[in-house]
Amino acid sequence: MSVTSTKFKVQRRRSREIFERAEKILVGGVNSPVRAFRSVGGQPLIIERGSGPYLYDADGNELLDYVCSWGAMLLGHAHPAVTEAIVEQAQRGTSYGATTELEVELASLVTEAIPSIEKIRFVSSGTEATMSAVRLARGVTKRDFILKFEGCYHGHADSFLSQAGSGLATLGIAECPGVPQVLAELTLNAPYNDLPAVERLFAQHKDKIAAVIVEPIAANMGVVEPEAGFLLGLREITKRSGALLIVDEVITGFRMHFGAAQQLARVEADLTTLGKIIGGGLPAAAYGGSAQIMNHVAPLGPVYQAGTLAGNPLAMRAGIATLKQLTRAGLYEGLREQSRRLVEGLREALAESGIAGQVNATGSLATLFFTALPVRNYSDAKRSDTKQYARFFREMLERGVFLAPSQFEAAFVSAAHTSRNVTRTIAAARDSFKAMAAEPAT
Ligand SMILES: *Cc1c(COP(=O)(O)O)cnc(C)c1O
Repeated sequence: MSVTSTKFKVQRRRSREIFERAEKILVGGVNSPVRAFRSVGGQPLIIERGSGPYLYDADGNELLDYVCSWGAMLLGHAHPAVTEAIVEQAQRGTSYGATTELEVELASLVTEAIPSIEKIRFVSSGTEATMSAVRLARGVTKRDFILKFEGCYHGHADSFLSQAGSGLATLGIAECPGVPQVLAELTLNAPYNDLPAVERLFAQHKDKIAAVIVEPIAANMGVVEPEAGFLLGLREITKRSGALLIVDEVITGFRMHFGAAQQLARVEADLTTLGKIIGGGLPAAAYGGSAQIMNHVAPLGPVYQAGTLAGNPLAMRAGIATLKQLTRAGLYEGLREQSRRLVEGLREALAESGIAGQVNATGSLATLFFTALPVRNYSDAKRSDTKQYARFFREMLERGVFLAPSQFEAAFVSAAHTSRNVTRTIAAARDSFKAMAAEPAT
């Protein structure tokens, strides 16, 4: 099949003008660092609207979107059922400061899908969910240390900002100023997929580690799958040591199937954090676990955590509508099939080009690392040629395909991406690789 991609002479005059205004008044012109395109160069996007798999910038250019709000938009943009639910709810008021039946409904959908969650607390961002889960783990175990993995990202709470993935990896921030040293010292880091390192840290900090927090599929250093036995090993070590296992499913919750990734690994988390997909594109996130643990949270227990907009009715409606769509027969199969085609196509195109690279992928998550060596942890990921990635990103963007503006992020396929979208993406990648091979970056 001969599909060629078109390389537009993209005109972004209005976007440029808006971004110039943004830079004067928003820090870096953005409200979240990676949006500024610092590591890939080029002009940051200004988006006006989205529809299905597409975004449209302020100049009317259509972009095939593989960022999908960093994974939140599993159904694509402006899905009619989600939009309708939000509009209907908006007419009834948007925040009450009291419980609604909607919270009970979304909680039921989530707890039925994820057996390790008996009770849940809704919050407004993934950061709040992980921060609260760690506080709860410390409160329950009466221990202070936490153990995380290099290159994993758990939001921007103080405890998570050392050797973290996502924007910190992108900007090369290994330690964040503003985090008190005494607090930073309570966060231990191990390489992902390295159980012996975890054992060593537990031996060094006997009876002091409150929790291990892990992404069950790492997706914030680029995609890195857990090796066989890694998650089960963490479950076993934490159980034996009296620590809790927090599985951070903010990306993976409802992405791989109608439930959490921990179920695929046959691991029961003590606490699970969710975000992104469960809010259907509105600010909702959650943490949950057994009733016995969750009952330590206020008002039943003394571990305090609250939120003015927590369980927000608009967000609950968007989440409920999204999860209901996700129960449609064949939805995840279709998503897997398009993702599989995309990944195979990228691997083929990469091999033909002779450019050194690896496509790490699972389900609808994928990352093309520009390195000849396999990537199984953060040190491996950091070996990739980020200049090559930047070039690839810009070549793809010029062909109307929007990938994550960083080597250390995932491409997110949505259920709205069609077979034709994928074919077009592969063609764009083939042409991008050709351009890169013909005129290597200096
Ligand atoms: C995005 C993310 C978070 C933080 O969620 P926010 O809503 O951005 O605060 C936490 N953990 C993981 C695994 C994430 O991908």
